[in-house]
Amino acid sequence: MDGNEITIINSQNYISILIIFAPLTINNSPLTIIPLTRIIEIHQITKTFAVGQEQVHALKGVNLVINKGEYVALMGPSGSGKSTLMNMLGCLDTPTSGTYILNGTDVSKMDDSELAEVRNKDIGFVFQTFNLMPRLTALGNVALPLVYAGKNKETREQRAIEVLKHVKLEDRMNHKPNELSGGQRQRVAIARALVNNPAIILADEPTGNLDTKTSMEIMALFEEIHQQGNTVILITHEEDIAKFAYRVVRLRDGVVESDEQNTNRSRLNAAVGGYTNR
Ligand code: ADP
Ligand code: MG
Repeated sequence: MDGNEITIINSQNYISILIIFAPLTINNSPLTIIPLTRIIEIHQITKTFAVGQEQVHALKGVNLVINKGEYVALMGPSGSGKSTLMNMLGCLDTPTSGTYILNGTDVSKMDDSELAEVRNKDIGFVFQTFNLMPRLTALGNVALPLVYAGKNKETREQRAIEVLKHVKLEDRMNHKPNELSGGQRQRVAIARALVNNPAIILADEPTGNLDTKTSMEIMALFEEIHQQGNTVILITHEEDIAKFAYRVVRLRDGVVESDEQNTNRSRLNAAVGGYTNR
């Protein structure tokens, strides 16, 4: 393709893909522009639970678009629908109505076994309570999603070690969860979330069980993961934690109340590798 060409594909009133082809240069070095790819596209999602005779409308028409590589905090008071939305995003549940396109696939009408497959391939979960297997070592925990993905033992171990090095836990890989500190356990859980190269990392209150210093170490790790091009969605009710994200989406009463870029973002100087191995 010659010259500078901009291709805009319009679907459902949104600009889907913006690709700028070379040769754009700044100071004679090529300017790389990463195309915006929609990783999450949620349209008018509702979720209604039946409780006895009553209907509880947990989500009342949520719209949300998240592009590849974004780092978004999902906030809201208790009962606003965060967990319900997180369950949708993580393919743990399906909506009552509306559509959810994850990584180009409509997952809103999938059955349980199809959802399980998508979860294993496309989503890395990080939970407040770590959710590690107590009998497995750090290495065993991190390698586990690769068992489900059908990888052979050698590949599993190689990849698990690589990711454990990434979270600076290579010297603890033969330890079981009860031989690790809270921060180390959460780093094992983050390594496990990363091991399959998922489309999105979904973290539900990941610092909820950690002290402030350890929380900052974990947030530094999320920043690094984001810098490496991963899509990170962080569910939190803590303003101090949400401040590290680049975009903040607030829910209230089952709808998106606000959706803003975070202009006053907190930065961690220790962002790359600055956390300690406690
Ligand atoms: P949050 O995580 O923001 O605290 P939730 O998504 O857990 O909010 O809940 C949103 C609303 O939906 C609340 O009113 C809650 O009581 C209701 N709800 C959530 N899950 C269920 C369920 N499984 N059955 C019935 N009601 C539910
Ligand atoms: Mg909740």
